[in-house]
Amino acid sequence: MVIDMPTADATITAAQVMEWLHAVPDPEIPVISVVDLGIVRNVAIQNERCVVTITPTYSGCPAMREIEADIVSVLQSRGVQQVQVEVTLSPAWTTDWMSERGKQALKGYGIAPPMQRAVDVSGITRRSEPSVPCPQCASSNTRLISQFGSTACKALYRCQACGEPFDYFKAH
Ligand SMILES: [Zn+2]
Repeated sequence: MVIDMPTADATITAAQVMEWLHAVPDPEIPVISVVDLGIVRNVAIQNERCVVTITPTYSGCPAMREIEADIVSVLQSRGVQQVQVEVTLSPAWTTDWMSERGKQALKGYGIAPPMQRAVDVSGITRRSEPSVPCPQCASSNTRLISQFGSTACKALYRCQACGEPFDYFKAH
């Protein structure tokens, strides 16, 4: 196997590392990278060491160990010898950190992306469930079936137009 290794004295920038991290998929939703998911909070180059700070999508996320190992392996294959992954829980991850590209990838995967959290300025109306468009046919005629879909962070909806059930990645 031939790996394209940069020379030892090549200067590695944080922007370059961030670009490489697009190759690390989310273990649960492989079509979306950890960068587009918004869990990579910071990349810092300290002397020879590269420190990547990540925030899990929810605390106790079992996929975090796998993500950490993937980050280290991807960066080492690029010639970054010393990789340190730090986990920070505050501020808590929010679906607002997901990139537009990430949301499109989710939709292509059949999962309705999180809606922007509505700000209720009046304080009068309170919507218990958002109107989520169907990722298959884009109809807004959909119904919440269950608050919990295939995982706790998703809700199960059914489209009244095409009859397909789908997961909605809940905004939080
Ligand atoms: Zn539909």
